[in-house]
Amino acid sequence: MIDLIVCPSCKGALAESACASCGRSFTRAGAQLRFVETDFATPDGEFQAATQGNHGLVGQLFNLGKSVLSSEFEPTPRLKRFLEEADGVVVEFGSGSRRLRPDVLTVDLFPHPNVDIVADISEAPFRDQSVDHVILDSVVEHVPDPAAVVAEAFRILRPGGRLFCNCPFLIPYHGYPRHYQNFTADGLQVLFGAFAQCTVRPTFGPMTAWVNMTSETFAVLVAGDRGLGYMAAKGLALLPIFWLKYLDAIFIRSRHAHRISGMLCAVAVK
Ligand SMILES: [Zn+2]
Repeated sequence: MIDLIVCPSCKGALAESACASCGRSFTRAGAQLRFVETDFATPDGEFQAATQGNHGLVGQLFNLGKSVLSSEFEPTPRLKRFLEEADGVVVEFGSGSRRLRPDVLTVDLFPHPNVDIVADISEAPFRDQSVDHVILDSVVEHVPDPAAVVAEAFRILRPGGRLFCNCPFLIPYHGYPRHYQNFTADGLQVLFGAFAQCTVRPTFGPMTAWVNMTSETFAVLVAGDRGLGYMAAKGLALLPIFWLKYLDAIFIRSRHAHRISGMLCAVAVK
């Protein structure tokens, strides 16, 4: 991994604990390289940490509820298909605490477990044209400057390298820690305009969007912020309608589905 890594600021070679060119320092925590020092301290950071780590009553109840009553249904597992054809150097930007596959290099702003490189992905510490695949799964909505992140992904990809991007269109605000924007199919084509080729398709279809919006409206109006009350309200609202999401197995095939879909997926080739 270390031969791919350069200084995030000047892209110069790294010495033991700082950039050999500009002197920017970094630290090591076990195998983890840290170019930024951040805590996961956000307005709903405790909720996020509990659900991601599946600990505490709130975290466990949320994940149990999500596995049974979730408003999410993906008729075609697009990221899984992308990974099946992804060999060479695969980097996930904004991985959180998951590792999709043992060989995937993980980058995140926060020092979660399983993160190889703690860095701001709008200045990625990789050499030019050193990576074969980049994954941005529900990430571009959470960065203030998505164009800067995509420019970095483009820079580090080899010619012919592929990028996978899942991002919400009709999914409500969800923090995590901040949620800045959603994208339409046209917006994604502009975002990946520098790539030689970009295909956009829905990941979550129209009924997923409707079920999510409807249950979220109820939960937010009844309970407001996230917590036990929110989860109870969301679960209650989902109970009579969650099954409608399975209709997306049919509806997602419509060529107009992107206009009302929950999540869109762009696969771009450099
Ligand atoms: Zn430097």
